[in-house]
Amino acid sequence: MMADDKAQSPDGDAYLLTPGPLTTSTTVKRAMLHDMGSRDVNFIGLNRRVCRQLLDIVDACDSHDCVPLPGSGTFAVEAMLATMLPAEGKLLNLVNGAYGRRINEICHYLGRAYQVQETAEDVPVDPVALDRVLSENRDITHVSVVYCETTSGILNPLQEIAEVVARHGRALLIDAMSGFGALPLSTRHITFSALAASSNKCLQGVPGMGFCLIRREALAQCAGHAHSLSLDLYAQAQALKKNGQWRFTPPVQCLLALAQALDELNEEGGVRARGRRYLENCRVLTEGMRAMGFRTLLSDALQAPIIVTFHMPDHSGFNFQVFFNRLSARGYIIYPGKITHADTFRIGCIGALGVDEMRAALAAVKATLEQMGIDHLNA
Ligand SMILES: *Cc1c(COP(=O)(O)O)cnc(C)c1O
Repeated sequence: MMADDKAQSPDGDAYLLTPGPLTTSTTVKRAMLHDMGSRDVNFIGLNRRVCRQLLDIVDACDSHDCVPLPGSGTFAVEAMLATMLPAEGKLLNLVNGAYGRRINEICHYLGRAYQVQETAEDVPVDPVALDRVLSENRDITHVSVVYCETTSGILNPLQEIAEVVARHGRALLIDAMSGFGALPLSTRHITFSALAASSNKCLQGVPGMGFCLIRREALAQCAGHAHSLSLDLYAQAQALKKNGQWRFTPPVQCLLALAQALDELNEEGGVRARGRRYLENCRVLTEGMRAMGFRTLLSDALQAPIIVTFHMPDHSGFNFQVFFNRLSARGYIIYPGKITHADTFRIGCIGALGVDEMRAALAAVKATLEQMGIDHLNA
């Protein structure tokens, strides 16, 4: 039996205040209740429409190709690096968190040369240092950056970074996973060679596929780069161009859900409206948590409205595992921290949630603290 004070999403599930998988709408879940053959004209049409909509989000229909791929977001990032980086190329990877470090690790697996420009996890990537590193290292062919580093929730200055990379004539590869569909990103302001994102996160689809948007002239140069058959985006793009089909079994239900999720993004008013809703979620969450005595890792100026990192309270009555379990029992799933040098936890602001759900989550946090015998964390 469900406890009276347990919150439930309209589908009877706990709310996921995480960076994905996240809470999706009932209509997105219902869109999956079909079978569809992968060689069916309906599927081919669906795939075309989804790819066009994904390009349209960043005004890239005339300049880039959309290449979808099964798997979680990391598969798309790995495929992007494997396809874009030639064996004789060299990547400069801008790192300020775990997802940036993951790109190092991918390069290591791929056997691609890379150099790292790293800042602390609570410090944005530095475009001035980037300018210097690119001047001093002529052998760097590509630069990679994570737009919103989900490790801390920090926003990196993508436009400034893109300007420096373009001025030096190098190619920019963006891990746009946690911001795509909610944070501003347009080919009108940002020149990029490729970006990777997924069906999940701010697009509010279900997890299961990623995609890369790749500049056409750049993609044309990528034959034979990939070390892996299934992660070769050049080959995937060729197949799609030839007959509109994925090379291997596509996650059909995931695409059906994404098509519905993209319609819902449009109905909401597009990227700008979604970004505004998340910003409101983030504001309500941050203010409410601060009022209870929690402290954020980042200043508001550095914070992207995607996920917020809080310092672990040092109150003697506070125990994170108990806090986490009791919040889960109340129907709210939060996320452990991922910061290297501080003890933290995270609460996400993305998904099919609004300020009402955020306020209810705050009430659950307050009730949980009271259950732990804590009136106020600073008391
Ligand atoms: C979520 C995320 C990824 C991909 O993670 P998966 O668990 O593989 O989906 C990559 N980069 C960033 C910045 C992310 O937030």
